[in-house]
Amino acid sequence: MKRICVFCGSSPGARRDYVQAAVSLGQKLAENEITLVYGGAIVGVMGKLAQATLDAGGHVIGVIPKGLMDMEVAFTNLPDLRVVNTMHERKALMAELSDGFIALPGGLGTLEELFEILTWANLGIHRKPCGLLNVSSYYDKLLGFLDYMVEEKFVNTAQRAMVLVAEHPGALIERFRDYVPPNADKAAWILKMTAELQ
Ligand code: AMP
Repeated sequence: MKRICVFCGSSPGARRDYVQAAVSLGQKLAENEITLVYGGAIVGVMGKLAQATLDAGGHVIGVIPKGLMDMEVAFTNLPDLRVVNTMHERKALMAELSDGFIALPGGLGTLEELFEILTWANLGIHRKPCGLLNVSSYYDKLLGFLDYMVEEKFVNTAQRAMVLVAEHPGALIERFRDYVPPNADKAAWILKMTAELQ
């Protein structure tokens, strides 16, 4: 684990716990000499995470599209800020640079990024660990919905197991280190499910 990409809110959220968790994660990454890869903004949970990593002596790579730079939310003092043309280029570069992916609490952007990277894992595009930090139970309902997706047979148990969950950064990083990617063969699973319906 040399670099971990973190998806998180461009807002601070309603509770101090969310920003506090970002600070703890930044410190843990620095302590473990893991470079933070993130969306390059100075706002919300994102900005606190980057600042905490830098303050703890860690390395940070920000990847931001030009358009968001123009909205003046970029962390312009980052030693390594990479400016790309589009959101798609940003996500592809963040994925390429990173050995694992963590979602802290966040909004639509955070969920979109998390689910895209999980979908890529599911399709075998990468075999890197993906997980979320369930700070103050923020993701309980989402995890419940994932279980319901399994019950309703839109997601299988191997895919569900790809979502690693912890409440504290150290525990999640440990789970990433022990992670063995499943041999998720989505095509075979779809064929099996289709056969069962006939
Ligand atoms: P959200 O969860 O909707 O606040 O979006 C946060 C995620 O989307 C981050 O991980 C970023 O990659 C991206 N994002 C959304 N808004 C911004 C912004 N203003 N500046 C930089 N990145 C953003």
